Amino acid sequence: EAKSAGGDNACFFDPAMLNIIAARAEMEADLRNGLRQHEFRLFYQPQVNSTGKWLGAEALLRWQHPQKGMVSPAEFIPLAEETGLIVPIGKWVLHQACAQLALWQADPAYASMTMSVNVSAKQFRQDDFVDTVLEAVTQHHVQPGSLKLELTESLLLDNIEQTITRMHILRSYGICFSLDDFGTGYSSLTYLKRLPLEQLKIDQSFVRDILVSPSDAAIVRTIVGLGKSLGLSVIAEGVEQESQRSFLQTLDCHAYQGYLFGKPSATLSLPQRGNSNAELHA
Ligand code: C2E
Ligand code: MG
Ligand code: MG
Ligand code: MG
Repeated sequence: EAKSAGGDNACFFDPAMLNIIAARAEMEADLRNGLRQHEFRLFYQPQVNSTGKWLGAEALLRWQHPQKGMVSPAEFIPLAEETGLIVPIGKWVLHQACAQLALWQADPAYASMTMSVNVSAKQFRQDDFVDTVLEAVTQHHVQPGSLKLELTESLLLDNIEQTITRMHILRSYGICFSLDDFGTGYSSLTYLKRLPLEQLKIDQSFVRDILVSPSDAAIVRTIVGLGKSLGLSVIAEGVEQESQRSFLQTLDCHAYQGYLFGKPSATLSLPQRGNSNAELHA
């Protein structure tokens, strides 16, 4: 008996476990501090149409850590969600993205640019989420219709009735919604029909092998068709090669995002007229 009790304790005091707990606690303190010290940055990645014209950009969060350098969201968003820190961080993202969008839109050539912002479940479920979003667009004087909130299927399905109500309220103010990583979750067509979406965003996993995998090509074709019949725009993410882009175009997908058009960057210099279009048409 003593042995089995000892076994349990040994498991609880497993030094590897303690290391993990300590590392998490340290990162949480780091995250809090990072927020206070303004260490978060927004990068922007362009979204283009078939002629290479800019439609908008997606805001992508980075953490400029004093020791670790630029930390990618995959490394800190899960912990930020668990600790609730994603709420103030997400609010900062919304404000920063709207402020940047207002700057772009001040140039008449880019007046119709949109800004896509990723929203996490924890953030969306806050009682004041609607107010937070409306405050950001109002304060920075951007058209609500040029802000596109990216939600994931798992967020939507987690509490579908509240999701639908909340989306409709924001939609009534003009805010747009895009369904991110589409095709990787479990959305049913019944729900899709009830959601006030403006856009489906094809997950990059389908784009990656689109030229070699007939099933991925079929999935993309299906998503584009679904978007068309539901009256939604469809954008492909993770487009890295011109061959992928042109194949997507033959499948009737007309909006793209990916390294081919630009990596996420802090200073998104708007392209000159005709810039990079030449290679798109080559
Ligand atoms: P996501 O929203 O699906 O963003 C697309 C990810 O793909 C980004 O990674 C982007 O940098 C990357 N990407 C873009 N083009 C290409 C390409 O051509 N090839 C490849 N291999 N990758 C490409 P990133 O910036 O590391 O962001 C990862 C995820 O973190 C995002 O996935 C999103 O879920 C989350 N995220 C980013 N910013 C925020 C934010 O402000 N708030 C919240 N809640 N989540 C965020
Ligand atoms: Mg996204
Ligand atoms: Mg995505
Ligand atoms: Mg993703």
